[in-house]
Amino acid sequence: MRILLTNDDGIHAPGLELLEAIAARLSDDVWVCAPSLENSGAGHSLTLNMPVRLHRFGEKRFAVAGTPTDAVNLALRKLFADGKPDLVISGINHGENLADDVTYSGTISAAMEAALAGIPAVAMSQALRDAGHGFSAAEGWAAQVLAPLMATPIARRTVINVNFPALPTEAVKGIRVVRQGFHDYARGSLVEGVDPRGRPYYWFGLEDVEHTLDHGTDLEAVGDGYISVTPLQLDLTHHASLGTLAERFAG
Ligand code: MN
Repeated sequence: MRILLTNDDGIHAPGLELLEAIAARLSDDVWVCAPSLENSGAGHSLTLNMPVRLHRFGEKRFAVAGTPTDAVNLALRKLFADGKPDLVISGINHGENLADDVTYSGTISAAMEAALAGIPAVAMSQALRDAGHGFSAAEGWAAQVLAPLMATPIARRTVINVNFPALPTEAVKGIRVVRQGFHDYARGSLVEGVDPRGRPYYWFGLEDVEHTLDHGTDLEAVGDGYISVTPLQLDLTHHASLGTLAERFAG
């Protein structure tokens, strides 16, 4: 099995190093192609206004001076003349990617880029908060999460979004398959200041983001000490609205 690893925290991120160790136990054909620098919050951004460079650091280890989407797109076009990867894993992200983090997340978007190319894709993120347990939950549970995902086909044009709770391995209660919850970043904190040249600046913060801890959501599962597994689809169509919206335009 050929596995491609990527992330949005950059080629030197500890979460990627851990993912490489986990993947090495699953396959002897593991490739890495990740952004040179941190790209958290880059979403599904494809660089169009400048060229993108590919840097080789090892036989199967590459960095792209670009976004997570650039890294996956370029890897799939340029690195695999003798066969595309069977699986793409993105992460393990430094911090959770829950609820409406989905469309901001470079980690999940990198997996989406692989899914668009028809390759099964898993995004993995480790909630950290201030708990001080680091990547303990991911380290202890990643193999158990990946095994069933690798054993059966993942639906086309979907991504499996996995989040590990901010707990030590032995305190994790188990794995829950749950739907995407709700976050409101429009209400998140905004830091305001003045730069050294006297101009005002604004910095988006992650404090005070509104959560809805509905039953059966990824937010609830991780909050309860479980690993959340959420299937996401790239078709964002709200099917329930198709009929009523069509009626409005029927004149
Ligand atoms: Mn990140």
